[in-house]
Amino acid sequence: MLSVQEALDFLLHSARPVSDIEQLSTLDATGRVLAADQLSQLDVPPMDNTQMDGYAVRASDCVSGSAVLPVSQRIPAGHVGAPLQPGTVARIFTGALIPEGADAVVMQEQCALDEATGKVTVQHAPRSGEWVRKRGEDIRAGSTILTRGTLLRAQELGLAASVGLAALPVYRRLKVGVFFTGDELAMPGEPLKPGAIYNSNRFMLRGLLQQLGCEIVDLGNIPDSRDATRDALRKAADGNDLIITSGGVSVGEEDHVKPAVEAEGKLNMWQIAIKPGKPLAFGEVRRATTQTPAYFIGLPGNPVSSFVTFLIFVRPFIQALQGAQVKPPARYPMRADFTWPKPDRRNEFLRVRINDGGGLDLFPNQGSAVLTSTVWGDGIVDNPPGQAIQPGDTVHFIPFSDLLH
Ligand code: AMP
Ligand code: MG
Repeated sequence: MLSVQEALDFLLHSARPVSDIEQLSTLDATGRVLAADQLSQLDVPPMDNTQMDGYAVRASDCVSGSAVLPVSQRIPAGHVGAPLQPGTVARIFTGALIPEGADAVVMQEQCALDEATGKVTVQHAPRSGEWVRKRGEDIRAGSTILTRGTLLRAQELGLAASVGLAALPVYRRLKVGVFFTGDELAMPGEPLKPGAIYNSNRFMLRGLLQQLGCEIVDLGNIPDSRDATRDALRKAADGNDLIITSGGVSVGEEDHVKPAVEAEGKLNMWQIAIKPGKPLAFGEVRRATTQTPAYFIGLPGNPVSSFVTFLIFVRPFIQALQGAQVKPPARYPMRADFTWPKPDRRNEFLRVRINDGGGLDLFPNQGSAVLTSTVWGDGIVDNPPGQAIQPGDTVHFIPFSDLLH
């Protein structure tokens, strides 16, 4: 059996990232992966400006803490004032440029304007630089603001826009062909015949792939037959980078995925010391149209196994294929408020929830078909092989929110 880390290393080393790059409006680049480092051509902020509504002053004019000075000009944001005459102040509004000669801002709450004389009592002795955002304090011209392989979230797009980048180079979306094996599978909306179950993996897997920004080609439910599986593999390989299937990867008589992949390509890997989710198939399927094969990953049919193995293996593999920087999810040390007396020899991923006391509760049924655990839970505990857990023990918690974006 391979350890979880060995299997993950194997996958990541096998990943050849997509190389096609497209130029996208920064407005439309959410969730895409940046294809080149981005430099700033400018200082941000471009000039010294005020952080507060108030009065721009020369700090040296206000050392008494009760200086009375005339207001010589008014500078709203977006307007450029005149040089500040010595012995005067400028009315100024957040974001406006500090006029030449001024070196501090006193907030309006610390100033009293006498409407009759047009003079302000400055009731505070500012230090030089007070409430001034300095030119370049966020970004210096010439510096790298975003590196290749960065997933573009809201904050990256805001940063890119702040230096005036109207378009960004991103890798093309990954194309993923999916199908679901099992004679027992029915679709929601259809009546459930005896022996049938609804295909929950189809909905879960599509959701996971959409969250990762993949283009999905969904071939639907495929019966348990070698020929049907081979046929679906060929269709899924054509035009897609990756094929993901669910079910049929054990070694039972009705598990046709393994021999079908072996006939249409090759299969590299089989048993992993993970629970839930031991059977996971990784390989490749030949394409009729191009020299390079499509990657293949066969997920187990049990829904929780499928979900967990996707998060642990498929997600980082997809990120690598997308050209993204792959980093392991943070494992937060947290207190277990439960007992896990009979650990498995495999690396277990237990569905848990954060309780009001700041500890973790365990979902009572950890069965690999019990999807309720994934909805009830806030995340998973990564429990090393053979590790029993007592209340009060520190365990490694991975929130779902870190794994789903
Ligand atoms: P298999 O991996 O094909 O042996 O399936 C293992 C278990 O998962 C069986 O109980 C299947 O009925 C169930 N299963 C397989 N595919 C799906 C699916 N797409 N949705 C929900 N359950 C499934
Ligand atoms: Mg099956």
